[in-house]
Amino acid sequence: MSLSPDFLRDKFKGAILGCFLGDAFGSGFEGMDPEKARFHMDDLSKKFTRSYTDDTDMTLALAESMIQSGGVNPEDISKQFSLTCDLTRGYAIGTIKAILALKAGMKWYEVARIVFKDGSFGNGAAMRVSPVGLFYHDDLEGLRRAAVEQANITHVHPLGQWGAVMQACTVGLAVSQDPEEPFRKEQMVTDLREILWGGPIEYVKALNKIEEMVAQGKKFHSREIVQHLGNGVEAHLSVPSACYLALMHRPDFCDAIRAAISLGGDTDTIAGMVGAIVGAHVGEKKLPAEWIEQLEDGARGLSFAKNLADRLFEAWWKIHQTS
Ligand SMILES: [Mg+2]
Repeated sequence: MSLSPDFLRDKFKGAILGCFLGDAFGSGFEGMDPEKARFHMDDLSKKFTRSYTDDTDMTLALAESMIQSGGVNPEDISKQFSLTCDLTRGYAIGTIKAILALKAGMKWYEVARIVFKDGSFGNGAAMRVSPVGLFYHDDLEGLRRAAVEQANITHVHPLGQWGAVMQACTVGLAVSQDPEEPFRKEQMVTDLREILWGGPIEYVKALNKIEEMVAQGKKFHSREIVQHLGNGVEAHLSVPSACYLALMHRPDFCDAIRAAISLGGDTDTIAGMVGAIVGAHVGEKKLPAEWIEQLEDGARGLSFAKNLADRLFEAWWKIHQTS
């Protein structure tokens, strides 16, 4: 299926703002259990300026680098991380240490093992990966390579790398789908299975479970989703949950984010990943205006993020017009 350039541009903005929204609205619930998160769900209707955390901060940095480089270039991404990442925005200790090492001049391929000798299997490489899903949505082999390359700066453990592949691929598949056409959940699971072939068994098991849950047709209770797919900071215990929720709740963005937050646990990251997938599917125009107006708009806030998504699309378009 071929989408018009305007439609695609709207989808690029939808994914970046979707991540921003999920992160900003999900961050107040981090670490809660599902019952407590559901109890506080009314907080989502309160109006105040909502700030983003490390998830959006790194997504913006990755997008900036990809615009400059015309794709994924780990050396340039590392420079961008060390220049613009704001370490006061809820970063995990491993990523803080990696970015501090980059700032101190260490090479990008040396920093990923300074905290965990086998590499981190956290969801840090997946939470920021939506620009890769957007940019490589029409080249899933290139997407898989690019998702791993950007992961390798901070997450060299296979679970961390392949979590980034799964999230990027889900975003890429969502970009390629026309939101007006019947949604092909089962086909998306099949496509994910193909792209994750050869990856860790944890993702194969998670996809089997997602397939089983999708086939049942019902929306599972948050406690059951946590039990089957997880709500943790580990990539394999959060990316599958985000994919499942996005598949089941799109095109209703707010419903999808509420479902992500109701899992408790790593709510900003799971809601950010769900937001990126659903936003990539429905586009910016279908995102909730009353939520968008609450997003912070400082030097690297809402206007900056929108402009960046636009420029990422332009960078993609430039390559595809000339090839
Ligand atoms: Mg965060």
